[in-house]
Amino acid sequence: MLRIDFVTLFPETVLSAVRFSILKRAEENSLVAFGTANPRDFATDRHRTVDDEPYGGGPGMVMKAETTAAAIEAVVSRQPPVAGRQSFIIFPDPAGELFRQADAAELSRKDHLVFVCGHYEGIDERVVEKYADRRYSLGDYVLSGGELAAAVMADAVVRLLPGAVGAPESLEEDAFADGLLTYPQYTRPEVWEGRRAPEVLLSGDHARVADWRRRQRLLATRERRPDLFARADLSTGDLDLLK
Ligand code: SAM
Repeated sequence: MLRIDFVTLFPETVLSAVRFSILKRAEENSLVAFGTANPRDFATDRHRTVDDEPYGGGPGMVMKAETTAAAIEAVVSRQPPVAGRQSFIIFPDPAGELFRQADAAELSRKDHLVFVCGHYEGIDERVVEKYADRRYSLGDYVLSGGELAAAVMADAVVRLLPGAVGAPESLEEDAFADGLLTYPQYTRPEVWEGRRAPEVLLSGDHARVADWRRRQRLLATRERRPDLFARADLSTGDLDLLK
């Protein structure tokens, strides 16, 4: 079973973000177990201090090394000492590499993931240097904290665990599964506000439906994500569909 721990000052936030829908069911079915550790519980002073002013000056506060590291050590040592099981430690970070579907797939094969959620101006860099197996960014924008970023990554990972998603073949058709965006979906009624669902999807002709969907994926990727399209591994059938 995959274990995912969040080192966070806001455990309730991150747990409520992961404990619903598919992820909640995955936890109930023992595919994954979520846990948290709060650096505040490792503070030794009267005020339970977890942050301090940045060296060199500037606005905001920085999460302290001692309390953040103690929380990381706690979740790593909580893992039962089974030979070969290893913790993989991830720092959500706008300065990290972009988190992609291939990363979610890689993480879904680990035993234990630890997401260390920054807040304020971030975490003392020495903790990141010591513990980070990976720094991941969700995109080129700044969130208030790492909690939502960690929950997003955990969601992308857990739905890839065998048994997490009811119809596993849907994973293969997801966007990015093979480097392409996904195709558009329609459901009843056939006509909504004068807009008709594509006739081919009502035809019952599975081969035509499959070709139409593949073509939609190719066209959408070429138009909206030329960067992905340039890297996609296209077959001669794909090139025919694009003609
Ligand atoms: N001055 C910091 C900077 O520019 O990196 C801002 C830190 S941000 C307010 C606080 C925390 O939110 C970060 O330490 C990180 O954990 C998380 N975070 C913010 N934006 C993120 C992003 N795009 N991807 C992943 N994590 C992010």
